[in-house]
Amino acid sequence: ANRQSGRNEIERLDREYTLGTWTRQRDFDPTQIVDTNGPRIVTADGDSILDFSSQYVCTSLGYDAERVSDAVAEQIRTVPYVNPGWATEPRARLSEKLAEITPGPLKKTFYSTSGTEANEAAFKIARAYTGKHKILSRYRSYHGATAASLSASGDPRRVAQGPEIQPEVPGMVKGPDPYAYGSSLDPDESLEYIDEMLKLEGGTVAAVLVEPLVGSNGVLTPPDDYLPRLQEIAHDHGALLICDEVMTGFGRTGEWFASALYDAEPDIITMAKGLTGSYQPLAATTVTEEIAEYFEDTLLNQGHTFAGHPTACAAGVAAIETYEEEGLVENAREMGQYLKSKLDSLAERHPSVGERRGVGLHQGLELTKSTDERVPFEQREDKVSSTTTVLDEVGARALDNGVYFYTSVNTIVVTPPLTITRDEVDEAVDALDDALRLSDAAMDE
Ligand code: PMP
Repeated sequence: ANRQSGRNEIERLDREYTLGTWTRQRDFDPTQIVDTNGPRIVTADGDSILDFSSQYVCTSLGYDAERVSDAVAEQIRTVPYVNPGWATEPRARLSEKLAEITPGPLKKTFYSTSGTEANEAAFKIARAYTGKHKILSRYRSYHGATAASLSASGDPRRVAQGPEIQPEVPGMVKGPDPYAYGSSLDPDESLEYIDEMLKLEGGTVAAVLVEPLVGSNGVLTPPDDYLPRLQEIAHDHGALLICDEVMTGFGRTGEWFASALYDAEPDIITMAKGLTGSYQPLAATTVTEEIAEYFEDTLLNQGHTFAGHPTACAAGVAAIETYEEEGLVENAREMGQYLKSKLDSLAERHPSVGERRGVGLHQGLELTKSTDERVPFEQREDKVSSTTTVLDEVGARALDNGVYFYTSVNTIVVTPPLTITRDEVDEAVDALDDALRLSDAAMDE
């Protein structure tokens, strides 16, 4: 199907009056979505698209989670909003639930409305608690869009406007990643490097911040013992471990949280996206009882008008009940195995697939233009996007075949909703199989 947009009134209005995110406005030309069902979105032209991205790895429940929409509707009619100084049933129930499903001694939750803010709150909490100010994050990471969280995000390919325009906030230091395609450090060496950095920073680091499984910078999977070892190293130097589970939380990896998958017990977990299945905007920063205890007598110097918004919290409670009752975390594990085997066979058949990586329904295929050398395709010439021309072409072809994938940093990210079935996996893999012929054809001789 030809999906050129800008044809109907809504697309024209949207183009005219909305500033698009993360894009040169010339390239902002969105297609109108008028309906959804299951894992599919429907365009104004009536095209039904199977969504294998869960949008931004958000809509983990698909679009038919009635329990969540009902809970939202009911809450809007009773107590749509009060400021965070009042208690509401949804917030109290959600906080209790989060204490139950998060790993280790995590207990109390601070609320906000985006993953970015959840990380900003984590930094403030870690700084106040430790009395230190630096945050150590890693290069291949994304933690958010505002000053401190963006400064903690390491990949220069994600920051189109350079430091001349968006200077980093002070106190952000960066270490190496556990693994990167073609990287020269192995995971052991990268941990030693971080250990050394913490030593050299001389006890000024409040927290080490990581995505347990790197998401939008290319689905990087660490070895099983990496995260517990990193936790030990951080603690040895008096720093906290913050796990950014904005993308990996809520069953995506086949466990409620990726930290639990790797047997780590972070001091702080940040989350958003899957928390409500994105039926409402809601984010959370959950801390251990010990950290929470510290703020009994110390000011918690952070807050937002919409913190713990009752309607959003009602969506959160209903979303967690839906994951539980429909066995979606187990489905992510099972379907993840199936998806993984199908993607492995794509990787075998297509020379331009350098590597499949991932756990559960958090999978990715990294492309290469030369199999032996592990060389990524070149970044787009206009450099305003974190994708490559070849990657964009593969994504566009898959979309023509009726399946939408999120593409980022030379990687096709494969993250369907947790409700996904075998037939839908087959449908998506067939669409991708065809699209990958384009990247095969674009390889070096
Ligand atoms: N952390 C991670 C790991 C993310 O993937 C994202 C968003 N993709 C964020 C933080 C920022 O979340 P938000 O866009 O809700 O601010």
